[in-house]
Amino acid sequence: MAVRILRKFQDDVLRNKAKPVKKIDKHITKLLDDMVDTMYEHKGVGLAAPQVGILKRLVVVDVGGCLLKLINPRIVEARGEDVDVEGCLSFPGVFGEVKRPEKVVVEALDPKGKRIKVGGEGLLARALCHEIDHLDGIVFIDKVIRFTDED
Ligand code: ZN
Repeated sequence: MAVRILRKFQDDVLRNKAKPVKKIDKHITKLLDDMVDTMYEHKGVGLAAPQVGILKRLVVVDVGGCLLKLINPRIVEARGEDVDVEGCLSFPGVFGEVKRPEKVVVEALDPKGKRIKVGGEGLLARALCHEIDHLDGIVFIDKVIRFTDED
């Protein structure tokens, strides 16, 4: 496992659409492990593959000690609304209020290729939406209602 270089706001890779993963091989599982290392190194709660320069639909999230490694994730249900302050490892020192669903259900493949459904609310729902946005080249500052000084 290894910490990869984080791509920052000025990097065009963050603005591109990531491609679905067709085959889950060692390369993909290694990349997911590296993404986990990179997320923990920078004390984040989520990371998407474009943030380490790879345009594949891969996301890792750890909210409250529950680590999720998601392949080709997509939101299949969203309910409610919640406005809260958000930040992003690719935008150090930038924080702002973003409106997200209060609850979401995400469908994805796990690293073994098994189809899974993950339900999340509050911060977990927020992190899932934020990371899945990255896969479509959308970053949180696009959705900020009001910038704030801190998180
Ligand atoms: Zn982010």
